[in-house]
Amino acid sequence: MEEQLSRQARIDINQTTALVCEKCGNDTFQEQYKWRKISALISPTGKEARTPIQIWVCTKCGEMSIDLVPLELRGLVVPVKLS
Ligand SMILES: [Zn+2]
Repeated sequence: MEEQLSRQARIDINQTTALVCEKCGNDTFQEQYKWRKISALISPTGKEARTPIQIWVCTKCGEMSIDLVPLELRGLVVPVKLS
């Protein structure tokens, strides 16, 4: 426990900023996964594969928080038509 704490910087919570949903202002989020299919042509194994991408969505309106998507994945997050 102490070891875990010593590895983290202690920051005054008053100096942090709450992340809120851009759509409704709610400040709680839930983790969900988008799944991507990787074609055999670009898959490292040479076989078709599937990979999950973790995203966070607002618990109130379901809007995805772009602030919580890792920077390297933001380019991958595009609106997908489900119909
Ligand atoms: Zn929301």
